[in-house]
Amino acid sequence: MAGSIGLDFRAPRRRLVETLQAGGISDLSVLRAIEMTPRHLFVPSGVQQRAYEDSPLYIGNGQTISQPSIHAHYLQLLKLTGRERVLEIGTGSGYQTVLLSHLAEQVFSVERLAPLMERAKVLFRELGIRNVSTLLGDGTVGWRDYAPYDAILVSAGGPTIPNPLLEQLGEGGRLLIPVGAKEEQVLVMMTRRGSQFERRDIGPVRFVPLLGTHGW
Ligand code: SAH
Repeated sequence: MAGSIGLDFRAPRRRLVETLQAGGISDLSVLRAIEMTPRHLFVPSGVQQRAYEDSPLYIGNGQTISQPSIHAHYLQLLKLTGRERVLEIGTGSGYQTVLLSHLAEQVFSVERLAPLMERAKVLFRELGIRNVSTLLGDGTVGWRDYAPYDAILVSAGGPTIPNPLLEQLGEGGRLLIPVGAKEEQVLVMMTRRGSQFERRDIGPVRFVPLLGTHGW
């Protein structure tokens, strides 16, 4: 299977990259990761034809895969160099996890829904991804065993910023999380400076709810 994965949908994937570039994504490593990642494998087979449109798609279990431009903006904000340890909360389809695997050294990804995690793990295996570790559980408490992280990305929106995630950031580490109401949130970036955190509000976003001890 691995041999043909990269070739399928190559032209639409290339067009998506061009659309993202025209929309202000200039980080070449982010664009390359998107060009390398077969998004059609991460969406239900009935909507594969739409996998390279810049739109969110339903992935089952009440969850959605975000719009590619959201992933691209998110990842561009993190300015990853390839040497980071990254924690992702909300594996979902696993699409963003694979993008991260191309942009960081080691990815730790937590998902609370077993069917989604199982499907994502199959894809990681089929794509030959070796630097991703997964955990089924509540990501609002982070993943203490492998902390500290250089970056933490939360793919679901919570009412507040979970303290365990701040605690698990290393020096200079960045946490990206949508915070606010269930229907709409503000994307917040927190950067650790010693014992302090610098907060930057990026802009309005709409994510599925972050459920759990430090979520809804
Ligand atoms: N980035 C994902 C988007 C998935 S949607 C993708 O590319 O497909 C957000 C995911 O967060 C859902 O799968 C949901 O089940 C998960 N989620 C919500 N609360 C969570 C929690 N406390 N811990 C782990 N995962 C959580």
